[in-house]
Amino acid sequence: MMAPPTIPDYIVVHELCHFHHVDHTDAFWNEVNKILPNYRERNEWLRKNGAAMDVRRKPLIPLPAV
Ligand SMILES: [Zn+2]
Repeated sequence: MMAPPTIPDYIVVHELCHFHHVDHTDAFWNEVNKILPNYRERNEWLRKNGAAMDVRRKPLIPLPAV
């Protein structure tokens, strides 16, 4: 399953907001809300569908052998 195009934006904003707030406190969600006022819909979509997403794919550039 592929995520709707709005979901990656939400993930990036969510993770960037963790630079300011380590936990999922009200202050954290307020920060997310400032950038994405409809974040709740996106968060709910991920909660319902995140486990069904196929994250296996080839890397965009070949990874160096280690
Ligand atoms: Zn988080």
